[in-house]
Amino acid sequence: MKVLLHDCCAPCGAQVINALQQDGHAVAVYFYNPNIFPRKEYDLRLAEMKRYAEKLGVPLIVGKYEHDEWLDSVRGFENEPEGGKRCEKCFQKRLAEVAQKAQEEGFDAFATTLTISPHKPAEVINKIGKELADFYGLKFIDTIWRKNEGYKKSCEISQEEHFHRQNYCGCEYSKRP
Ligand code: SF4
Repeated sequence: MKVLLHDCCAPCGAQVINALQQDGHAVAVYFYNPNIFPRKEYDLRLAEMKRYAEKLGVPLIVGKYEHDEWLDSVRGFENEPEGGKRCEKCFQKRLAEVAQKAQEEGFDAFATTLTISPHKPAEVINKIGKELADFYGLKFIDTIWRKNEGYKKSCEISQEEHFHRQNYCGCEYSKRP
């Protein structure tokens, strides 16, 4: 299938791109992450993504950095703990954009790297993905990427590639001590 992969950063994406290609899919990456703050950190993650996509020869689409819109999408949930309601809104905002783009660009399916993280609620992410897939008439690949040593492999590739590895999820609220 032609799969549009929402990728949050190069360290999370490397293993997922591998796995999708091994399953025979034609993968393109969509970097749509207006949640990332500050802009300097966004630029750093994007630069790493571009470098790795070029190395693999994987097409990369770069979305808008509309951080103010993203802030509006999570308003009222700023004080939620990581993995809570704010994150659910954040997943919804990003995956809705990816699903729409996948439909516009003629992809068969979409997926996200988000479930490679041991800190993220895979069932919530996959529920959102499946609902959007139904709405847009697409397939959503609901593999929980951290399973079967996926997370371990992603850490190994990150080390080999000397990726920049951030120590917080992305938004300003996830940077709080
Ligand atoms: S902690 Fe991560 S997933 Fe949750 S709202 Fe912030 S950027 Fe989004």
